[in-house]
Amino acid sequence: MADLDGSNYDYVIVGGGVAAAAAVDGIRQLDDSGSVLVLGAEADGPVYRPDLSKKLWLDESSSLERSALLDGQDFDLRIGTEVTSIDPAAHTVQVTSGATVTYGKLLLATGASPRTLDLPGSDRIMYYRNASDYRRLRELAGEDMPVTTVGGGYIGAEITSALTQNGVRVTMIFDEELVQQRLFPESIAQLVTDDFAGHGVRLLAGETVSGGELADDRVGIRVGDGSVIEAGAVVVGVGVVPRVELAEAAGITVDDGVVVDEQLRTSAPDVYAAGDVASYLDSLLGRRRVEHVDSAEKMGKHAGRNMAGADEVYDYTPIFWSDLFDNGYEAVGDLDSRLDTVEDWNADRTAAVVYYLRDDVVRGVLLWNVWDSSDRARDVIARSRDGKLGRGELIGAIPTS
Ligand code: NAD
Repeated sequence: MADLDGSNYDYVIVGGGVAAAAAVDGIRQLDDSGSVLVLGAEADGPVYRPDLSKKLWLDESSSLERSALLDGQDFDLRIGTEVTSIDPAAHTVQVTSGATVTYGKLLLATGASPRTLDLPGSDRIMYYRNASDYRRLRELAGEDMPVTTVGGGYIGAEITSALTQNGVRVTMIFDEELVQQRLFPESIAQLVTDDFAGHGVRLLAGETVSGGELADDRVGIRVGDGSVIEAGAVVVGVGVVPRVELAEAAGITVDDGVVVDEQLRTSAPDVYAAGDVASYLDSLLGRRRVEHVDSAEKMGKHAGRNMAGADEVYDYTPIFWSDLFDNGYEAVGDLDSRLDTVEDWNADRTAAVVYYLRDDVVRGVLLWNVWDSSDRARDVIARSRDGKLGRGELIGAIPTS
């Protein structure tokens, strides 16, 4: 590809993740000739990120190549290229090398950066966001090379489950009493925690990490009481923050994310945002920011279509899902265990629908081992919001089997 400096593209996408890939698809649905440039900081092009913590460990027919997105699409990709500034008035972006690129329409799909802990620098310690992290963990983890996971959220739970199912001994350190306690009501968080223990995971609950030390082929993680947990690799998942710095420096409105309108336009002309970084107007739940792949895909595609002239209102409420050993779930809306919850279990307590309420209005629905019901969950949220479904009518509103 020619030198970037002085180049001119109809569409420039900042970020190389799922939202970026979906935006290329969206643009190409309406415009098959406009020039498209994707600028990604990672060493790889876009991959389907859920595979990194699930399928690639659990499905023998999977491969990193098959998880790559955008096969066959016509666009220019620059990997390992970080955008350092945006000038919305001049319609230009600048990259680390100093090169300047002019755009017609720009998409901010910069995602989120992991929160970090005060640990020594080592390629045995991963915050687990991209394909390089997957490759490195594959090299290191094994039946004779245990792994420590830090954090009891999505990454900690999924990687612990995936590695354990690959015969790797895992110690999980987290600062709450139960696995995924911020997400699930106590009944399900307890069940998940017991299941992890039953599969041989060593659980260090209620522990914070106070530091780390490196030896030849080991990393030691120090916990509150001073003891050190040794492993060949450490995966840290202690949350993420939206990457808003570029937008902020360019004077674009930011408020827990880059603020977009119902067409996914930011406050700057011809600049759109989508994915983890975007604070959008959810038609069911109001303004929010979502850090899940379904949101990145749908919003990215929609932004791409609108950049190519579709002019459509974004009215999608995303789902998210996970598999943890033999249990799995789908969910819609705000799953925050601090909300009031109503639990509806099936007879043998293997499946449940959990409603999360604020001021007696349903804000989220967890479908625990319940499948193909996300449209019903959206419907419940809408009817509850409109005052057509009371709290007392929730039990049975969505079948548990
Ligand atoms: P998270 O917010 O899900 O979990 C963070 C966890 O770290 C919490 O349990 C918290 O208590 C714990 N923690 C925080 N500080 C700690 C400390 N100092 N010591 C020990 N524990 C500490 O975040 P994540 O797991 O890092 O996931 C990152 C992002 O990836 C999230 O935005 C998530 O939505 C996304 N993700 C989603 C899925 C999915 O939808 N299935 C899967 C993987 C990742």
